[in-house]
This record gives sequence, C-alpha cells and structure tokens, in this order.
Amino acid sequence: IMGREMAAVPSTKPHVVLIPFPAQGHINPLLKLAKLLHARGFHITFVNTEYSQKRMLQSHDPSTLRSLDDFRFETLPDDYENRTTGFLCYSIPKLCLAPLRDLLRKLNNSPTECPPVTCIITDGVMSFTLDVANELGIPAMFFWTTSACGFMAYLHNQHLIDRGLTPLKGLSNLSDGYLDTKVDWVPGMSDMRLRDFPSWIRTTDGNDYMLHFNIYEVQRASMAAAVILNTFDELERPVLEALAPIVPPVYTVGPLDLLLHEIPNPRLKSININLWKEDESYLEWLDQREPGSVVYVNFGSLAVMTNDQLIEFAWGLARSNYHFLWIIRPDLVKGDDAVLPQEFLTETKGRALLASWCQQDAVLPHPSIGGFLTHSGWNSTLESISNGVPMLCWPFFAEQPTNCKYACIDWGVAMEIHNVVNRDEVERMVRELMGGEKGKEMRRRALEWKEKAVGAAKAGGSSFMNLERMVKEVLLLPK
Ligand code: UDP
Repeated sequence: IMGREMAAVPSTKPHVVLIPFPAQGHINPLLKLAKLLHARGFHITFVNTEYSQKRMLQSHDPSTLRSLDDFRFETLPDDYENRTTGFLCYSIPKLCLAPLRDLLRKLNNSPTECPPVTCIITDGVMSFTLDVANELGIPAMFFWTTSACGFMAYLHNQHLIDRGLTPLKGLSNLSDGYLDTKVDWVPGMSDMRLRDFPSWIRTTDGNDYMLHFNIYEVQRASMAAAVILNTFDELERPVLEALAPIVPPVYTVGPLDLLLHEIPNPRLKSININLWKEDESYLEWLDQREPGSVVYVNFGSLAVMTNDQLIEFAWGLARSNYHFLWIIRPDLVKGDDAVLPQEFLTETKGRALLASWCQQDAVLPHPSIGGFLTHSGWNSTLESISNGVPMLCWPFFAEQPTNCKYACIDWGVAMEIHNVVNRDEVERMVRELMGGEKGKEMRRRALEWKEKAVGAAKAGGSSFMNLERMVKEVLLLPK
C-alpha cells in the first residue's frame, strides 16, 4: 500500500519479498535481514500482516515510510484479537494463502511500480507460502528465526514420537524425573535430555496441535531453496555441521544486529516494528547508573505468567539489593493486570524502573547493564551474547528450553532459574549473576562470545561472507 504513487521510474533491481510470522521475535530478524539486503542493492517488499502494520504506523509517520527508496510495505489480512501463538499458527495460513497469491501476482505484473519478484524469503513457520511460490515459479527461502540447536531439536520431534518418548504417559511425567531421560542420538547435540527439547513435546495428547504443526513446518524446510538462520558458525558449529546433510544449504548470517552497523541509510535504519508502545526515559535512567550495575529483566513478547510468579520474581529482585530495569508488558500476567504489592514498590523506589516496553537493542549494549533475566527467546539470547551480557534463564515455551540448555551448558554464559519460581532462589541467583564467582566466569565467557560474534559479523567474517554467498548463490541465481 505504501509508496505506490511515487514509483515513477521503473527499477531493474532484483526484488526480494520478505514475509514474517506476525510475532515480535519473527518480525525483528526478518526486518533486519530486509535492511541488509536493501543495502546490497535489492528492491524490498516487506509484507506485514494488518495487525503489525497498524502497530508500525503508531510510531512512524507514513511519509517517512513512503520516502524509503525501493523499500515498500504491503499487508496480508489478520485482524485477529486473539494473538496466542497456537491460534495464529492455525489461522494465518488459512486467511493469507489466497491474498498472498494475489499480492505476488500483482508485484510480478506491475512493471511501472516495481521489478518482478526474484525470490521470496518467508518465515520458516509459514511454509504455506512455498505452495504459492511454487505455483508462480518464484524461488523461496525459509528464515527459521530459531537457533540452529532449536531448529535441529524440532527436526527430531518426529523421532521422539517414533521412539515412544512423547506424548508423555501421564502428567506426572512432568515431575517424576522422566524429562531427565537422556537423548544421545541427535546428531551434533550432546548432553541432551527430554526437557531440553521444544516445550511442545510436554503433552499427553497424541494429536497435540503445536507438536504436529512444528513437525510439519520443519519437515517442509527441506523443500526450500535454502534455510537462513540468525546465528554464527563458531557458536553452533557441531549442530550446523550435523545439519548440513539433512536440509538444503543453510546460511548463518547472525547476529543480524551486529551486521546492521553497516546500514548507510539512517532513515531506514531507524524503522522498527514494535507491537507494543515503547516507554520513555529508561535510557536516561540507565545513563545515571554505574557500569555493570543493573539487572535487566524482560520475558519477551509472548511469555505469560501468573501473578504469584510475578510476585516471586519481584521479591527476589527487591531482596537482591541490585538496581533493575524490569519490562512488564501489559499482557505479561495471565488474566488480570499485573499487581505488585505496595511494599515492593516502596522498598525498591529509586532502585527499580518498571516499564512496559523498551527498545531492547538499545538496552542490552548499554554499559550499565550487568546481567539479563530472560525467558531465553532466541533473539534475546543472541542479542545478550552479542553484547557480552550473562543471563539468568527462565524458559517459557517453544525452543526456549533448548536455548537455555545451550546458554548454560555449552556456552557457559547463563544459569537456569527453576521453573517453579521462588523468591529466595531468585535473590540468590541474581546476587550470583551480578557479584558472584560464577557470575564473573559467565561474564568472561559472554565477552569472549561477543568478540567472536563481532568477528563473524565484520567484513570478511563468517556471517558477513555467508550473506554475500547467499546473495550470489540463491538470490541472484537466474530463474
Ligand atoms: N523486544 C524489545 N523490547 C521488549 C521486549 C522484546 O525490543 O521490551 C524484542 C527483543 O529485542 C527481541 C524480540 O523483541 O528481538 C523478542 O524475541 P525473542 O525471540 O527474544 O522472544 P519472543 O518474544 O519471541 O518470545
């Protein structure tokens, strides 16, 4: 919809259409990749759903969006009130397949407005897009916005079913040690237990929708021209080596945040799509704190908890005596609004800043941040590693348990908080993270990984070169 009226001169650039799943952790990495491709001379169409587009327009002047040369936004229908992952996974393909076909046809046949479509890059969990791409003879790549280890774990969910390990035999399996069952046969993954697999296997229902949805989607990855992952080779080498013979070429192009430093167009660089309205003044607050002194607490865009869990975190943080910036999304707490006790607010006055949404990529690099209490979403995990920030993990769902296992065991940058959250444990672990010996060691490891991440993203580094190769080997390949 945006910018059609200004496209006077037909462009001959190669044209990539990017289509994210309408959730924050999917939109962010696809938008970053879109910016990087734009900087490499591509005409870009970024396809939001109506829901995401509306939210983007709340914080951007439409004229700014129109003024971006060769970077356009289009929309697919989605005005659902229900934003739960399961509902969207089920509904989006049904609602968007036909409109996507119409959109791609239109883009392909509007020579005065845009060049024909060279390739589409769609979210790995939107594999219905492949059917449309095949029908129209357009090559398609999947961007799996997970870690490589998360992706590999999904690829083996069917094997877990075949071996009788899931569905669980009863709900008591969740507490009787069954989840500690070792799984030592997934290529490239060591020390795995059942609990380290994506959360959808924790079901007693053989027909569980999310379990089967993910199995179906991940199996379709092998039908795409290539798979893109926001990670870097050194971080996940064993898994990436094991993935190579299983799926089509995998291009590891992360951390995208670090590659983005090269974007020359400041207007484009400043475009972001926040599904929540950002609070103000948290950066000024951070500026006034000592280096490495603040705990940053954020459970991402989808996790929900009970008010009791929130209160355990609150008292744990309060009693740790550290400063903290805590992002409490309006819908973080199940059912009602989050209610924090007045004594907590009084006791932490001056030491705590509570906000409802922030620009995380401005928070994690801030020198005041000493540690990150996270739900282990992949974007958050990688953003933390890219900035050398150690973590406390409280994985919520999807492949977050896998990310948590790797962060704690393989990369040595995190500690896990018990699923049944308790204020004494939170207090103890926050103190360890910020001031303990283990905390120091985790910070040292995180800084080492940061150096490696920077190396991968700089000119000549592995991710930088993979992006160049992906452009030449897939995006610019003659049809
Ligand atoms: N994010 C943000 N501000 C917030 C919370 C999250 O900018 O207050 C961004 C964060 O930087 C990340 C994304 O939203 O890029 C969340 O993705 P992640 O994979 O970490 O978790 P999800 O939200 O998918 O569970």
